[in-house]
Amino acid sequence: DVESVPGVPSWLPGHLRDGGIEKLYPPQADAVEAGVTEGESVVASVPTASGKTLISELAMLSSVERGGKALYIVPLRALASEKHREFEQYEEYGVSVGVSTGNYESSGEWLASSDIVVATSEKVDSLVRNGAPWISELSCVVADEVHLVDDPNRGPTLEVTLAKLRRRNPNVQTVALSATVGNAEEVAEWLDAALVDSQWRPIDLQTGVHYGQALQFDDGSQTELPVGSGEKPTAAIVRDTLTEGGSTLVFVNSRRNASGAAKRLGSVTDERLTAEERDQLAAVAAEIRDASDTETNAELARAVERGAAFHHAGLSRKSRTLIEDAFRDRLIKVVAATPTLAAGVNTPSRRVVVRDWRRYDGSAGGMVPLSVLEVHQMFGRAGRPGRDPYGEALLLANSHDELDELFEKYVWADPEPVRSKLAAEPALRTHILATVASGVANSREGLLTFLDQTLYATQTSDSDELQRVTDDCIDYLLVNEFLESDREDGTQSLDATSLGHTVSRLYLDPMSAAEIIDGLRGASDVTPLGLYQLVCRTPDMYELYLRSGEEETYTTTAYERETEFLGAMPSEFEQARFEEWLSALKTARLLEDWAREFDEDEITDRYGVGPGDIRGKVDTAEWLLGATERLAGELELEIAPAIHTARKRVEHGVSEDLIDLTDVRHVGRKRARRLFEAGIETRADLRNADKSVVLGALRGRQKTAERILEQVGHTDPDMTNVTASERSRSDVE
Ligand code: ADP
Repeated sequence: DVESVPGVPSWLPGHLRDGGIEKLYPPQADAVEAGVTEGESVVASVPTASGKTLISELAMLSSVERGGKALYIVPLRALASEKHREFEQYEEYGVSVGVSTGNYESSGEWLASSDIVVATSEKVDSLVRNGAPWISELSCVVADEVHLVDDPNRGPTLEVTLAKLRRRNPNVQTVALSATVGNAEEVAEWLDAALVDSQWRPIDLQTGVHYGQALQFDDGSQTELPVGSGEKPTAAIVRDTLTEGGSTLVFVNSRRNASGAAKRLGSVTDERLTAEERDQLAAVAAEIRDASDTETNAELARAVERGAAFHHAGLSRKSRTLIEDAFRDRLIKVVAATPTLAAGVNTPSRRVVVRDWRRYDGSAGGMVPLSVLEVHQMFGRAGRPGRDPYGEALLLANSHDELDELFEKYVWADPEPVRSKLAAEPALRTHILATVASGVANSREGLLTFLDQTLYATQTSDSDELQRVTDDCIDYLLVNEFLESDREDGTQSLDATSLGHTVSRLYLDPMSAAEIIDGLRGASDVTPLGLYQLVCRTPDMYELYLRSGEEETYTTTAYERETEFLGAMPSEFEQARFEEWLSALKTARLLEDWAREFDEDEITDRYGVGPGDIRGKVDTAEWLLGATERLAGELELEIAPAIHTARKRVEHGVSEDLIDLTDVRHVGRKRARRLFEAGIETRADLRNADKSVVLGALRGRQKTAERILEQVGHTDPDMTNVTASERSRSDVE
């Protein structure tokens, strides 16, 4: 009963009741039993959609009630805004909620006054590095999706960040939320927390495999599900689910497969739409087309009109949200998604089909099976509480052998244990520099003591390995002059150099910083392409792959524009390194096209990427160029202004002549170009501009024009008195 929970604010039970929550779910009750509302640390390892969020809210709100401050760490930026929106419901009770995204290099002073702060683990790590004073005031830290410590790319940051927070505030309450994993006890042991380990779900889940003309379930039962001749099993399942009024989520292994499946499945859903649904879907499709006129969006809109959609990280944020909402509203009947949708976005569906259980892995050079943990998380999206009697999650088999294999491998299997990935060098390199720079440790021994608080240390009995990689990293940082060392009475003390401090605060992988510094030293003349290529070849940028035939194209470009590149170009005989270098060049060419004002859809076509990918590359490049600018300043090089210009051009996607205009809010790259063509070339021009000319350039958008003129301090931003005759006069002129 929500009334009898100790420690929570007195308004909370009523508030929960108003939201339809009368009783705690069993795992929530277990967490309360373990003291989660009384400051005790808890690891909750429970299935998807079993109310993990409320466990964290109980912890945070009771902590704030006692005068404390809570931090909620999310694994993805998209989830930061989602959680922020969710927690905002508490502001009416005087609980202030802040979200920290965006620029890495800041200490986020304004967050000092928030009771609850939501941030990604990278952001938290950087706040610690930049010495945000409120970090030491935290009384409660929540780590969402803590099983991601297993992720080779992002796991180590989460792991080290938790270790640092706990070292700084030894009494902090840690609440870690996890999918069901194989070694939850070990995670709890690492965090000195009580364990709530539960298989309970609010709605029954049946898992099974489709083979031939039937669904076979884990409890031994079977249901007929005939597949027509020439029909794919997925289509038959989607049709069958529709007959029962349900929707289907199909997981596939690539973006291309996602859009292909949506297109095919659209012909199944299309047959069953009502006239009203068709109208509403047309409206959603129109919004998608409006958002940006790329081929991806056009394709998505065509599928949506027929009641189907695809979902992957190449879509823009806006399109993704539209799809998620329409699917939750049961307007879209089937979504074909890459696994990004399984990661935390709340989109339950009657049936889940994991169509592809293998995915391509570049480092393995071929297809690899998904982990049990991943498949079970996709399974967990099946069944909408309060709507469906139960959820069903399915794999597809092509043969009797495969049927058996899939039952063994996934349906009956337990999820793998999570393993620390901290010993991987790039992670350790970055975190060792940060740990020394932020003063958490100042000797080799101090570092090893600190690292002893990580999951890695909990899991490894071979402390030699950790010592060995630690020593390698220290050497690397000393050689590159990010650290300096002194020998005092037998022990080696470590200190960050001024350059090392800068690198750590900028949140760069030290190897990226070394590459950039090496490229900048001795450069007298820099071009945007040269700078873009430089930052694209650092480990902090995910490069575009070369498609077949492109090696030649970019080799030609490399020689044609040889003088622009910074640092040495690897020889063609070092094939792997040369190819890497060309991939960076391809990525740099994309940025250059963007900064030359090419249209989005032209770029997506030329490079075979989605609009969301352009945004991703642009954001990363902007950050890395900002860092490059700072490093150039630190090294007292005279090319900093040229770097600044290159960064501004990428930020806004414009030629140099438009930078001044695009720095004005609400003036994007297209509007700036039209204003420029109408003779308004700078911010100052805009301030003194003839209003009708501005209005003409903005295609008669009055509101926008007013907002822009207000921004620049125009003497009379009000557009309502620009008469029709004035407008037509400006047309004649
Ligand atoms: P998870 O984070 O475990 O995936 P959520 O916290 O998003 O799951 O919870 C899933 C849904 O269950 C949410 O819509 C939430 O409002 C609802 N819910 C959580 N706890 C309760 C409860 N005790 N009673 C009724 N509904 C609940």
